[in-house]
Amino acid sequence: MADISKLTIAEARALLDRGEVTSVELTQAYLDHITAVEDSIHAFLNVDAERALDQARAADVRLQQTKATDDGDRLMLGIPLGIKDVISVKDVTTTCASRILEQYVPPFDATSVARLKLSGAVLLGKLNCDEFGMGSSTENSGFVTTRNPWDTTRIPGGSSGGSSAAVAAGEALGTLGTDTGGSIRQPASMCGVTGLKPTYGRVSRYGLIAFASSLDQIGPLAWTARDCAMMLNVMAGVDPHDATSAPEPVPDYTAMLTGDIRGLRVGVPQEFFVEGIQSGVTATIQTAIDVLRDQGAEIIEVSLPHTKYAVPVYYIVAPAEASANLARFDGVRYGTRIEQDGANYWDILEKTRGAGFGEEVRRRIMLGTYSLSAGYYDAYYRRAQQVRTLIRQDYQTAFEQVDIIAAPTAPAVAFRVGEKIDDPLAMYLGDVFTIPVSLAGIPGLTVPCGFSEDLPVGLQLIGRSFDEATLLRAGDAYQQVTDWHIRRPSLAT
Ligand code: GLN
Repeated sequence: MADISKLTIAEARALLDRGEVTSVELTQAYLDHITAVEDSIHAFLNVDAERALDQARAADVRLQQTKATDDGDRLMLGIPLGIKDVISVKDVTTTCASRILEQYVPPFDATSVARLKLSGAVLLGKLNCDEFGMGSSTENSGFVTTRNPWDTTRIPGGSSGGSSAAVAAGEALGTLGTDTGGSIRQPASMCGVTGLKPTYGRVSRYGLIAFASSLDQIGPLAWTARDCAMMLNVMAGVDPHDATSAPEPVPDYTAMLTGDIRGLRVGVPQEFFVEGIQSGVTATIQTAIDVLRDQGAEIIEVSLPHTKYAVPVYYIVAPAEASANLARFDGVRYGTRIEQDGANYWDILEKTRGAGFGEEVRRRIMLGTYSLSAGYYDAYYRRAQQVRTLIRQDYQTAFEQVDIIAAPTAPAVAFRVGEKIDDPLAMYLGDVFTIPVSLAGIPGLTVPCGFSEDLPVGLQLIGRSFDEATLLRAGDAYQQVTDWHIRRPSLAT
C-alpha cells in the first residue's frame, strides 16, 4: 500500500489506473488514517465509511471494465475526497456547521458533487467550517473548532478550515471548499496546501447553501496545482440549475500545465505590501516572486488603488446578502424548530433563530438587515456596490499591463485558537488580500511558498476572469522547481 501521507491525486490516479492499488484499499487507508488523527484535528463533521466503501467498490468495477483511454471522464475515479458541509450531498446530513441545520438531509446533490460522483469520486464525509461560511478560523462552527495540522494549538484558517486541514493531515486527497471573501485561499495558505477560487460563475453554485450569492464560489483544495486542475476539469461549466453559471467554454486545465512561464507578465501590487503584514510573510512572498522571475516571468509593479476599501465594502455587501439568504431558516421550512406551548409564528421564529444561529451569524444578519433598511440603503448598500465597481476596474486596468498578479494570500500565519475570537474587526482585517479578488469576481490560486515561524505561508496568484488556466500553469510551474507542496506536518496519532 502506498504511503498516503505523500500521495497526490495525480499519483493516486496513476496507481489506480495501473492496478497497483484498488480504490477500496485506498479508501480504507484514508478511513483508518481519519480514525487515527481526527481526535487531534477535527476536520470532519461526519464520516460515512460504509457509503465511501460502496462507492470505492463501484469504482473498482469501473476501473476493471474500462481503460483510461476509453473512459475520458474518469479523472476522479476511485479518488477519496471530502466535501465542505455547506455543499449539499444527497442523503447525507448537511449542516453548514450550524445548529439550525443539525438535522437537515438534502434530497439532492449539488451540481459540483454530482459531477464528482459521475466521474467516480469516493466521498469520505463532510468537513467542518465556520457557520454558513462566516469566519476565518472555524471557531464560528456550531460544533467544533478544527485544528491546524502544523500546530494543533492554532486555527486552520477559515471558513473552509476542515477542507484545508483534511488535506494537510492526509485525511483526503482533495476537498471542496467555498470562497466568498477568501475562504478557500486563506485556509489553504494557513495549512500549507494549494487552493483555487475559480471565477464567479465558473463552477455551479446549485446545491451550495448560500451565504452571499454575488460572491460565493465552490473550488478545490489539494496538495498541488495539478490536482486542483484535475478537480476543476470535472466540476467547471455551465449548469441549467444555476442561472449565474457561465456558458464560457471549459478548457482542459491539465493539458495546459506546460511548466513554462517564460515571458509571463506578473504584476506585483504595491498596495499588498503595506504596514501590518508580518515581516516573515513579506520576505517569503518576495522570495517566491524571485523564483517566478528566475523561471522567466517578467515582474512588473502595478497599482490597485481601491484595495483599502475592499474590507468595508465586503462587510456591507456580504452581510446584506446573508440577511436575505438566511431569512429562509425560520423553523417552518427547514431544520430545527424551537416549539413552545401557545407560541405564535413570531415567537417560534425568534426562539428558533435565536437558539439556532451562533453569535457571528446573528451579528451579520443584524448588520445586513440594517444596511438594507429604508433610508440606509443608499448610504450603505448602493455606495458599497459603486465602490465594488471601482475595485473591479482596478483589476481590469492592471490586467491590461500584466497576465497575472502575485501577492500574499494572508497578512499573517495561522494564529492561536482563541486569539482573535473576541475581536471581530481583527478577524475581518485578516482577509484584506483575498476579499478584493472576491469582489472583482476573478479567480485566485494560493500555493504554499515557504514558512514563517514554522508555519506555512501562501503565495496568491490572481488572474483575469475565466483564466484559471494561466493561474494553474503558473502554480504548477512554481511547484516543479520548489518543494513546499511536498512538505508534510508531523502528526500525533
Ligand atoms: N472570512 C470571510 C468572512 O468571514 C470570508 C468568508 C468566506 O469566504 N466564506 O466572511
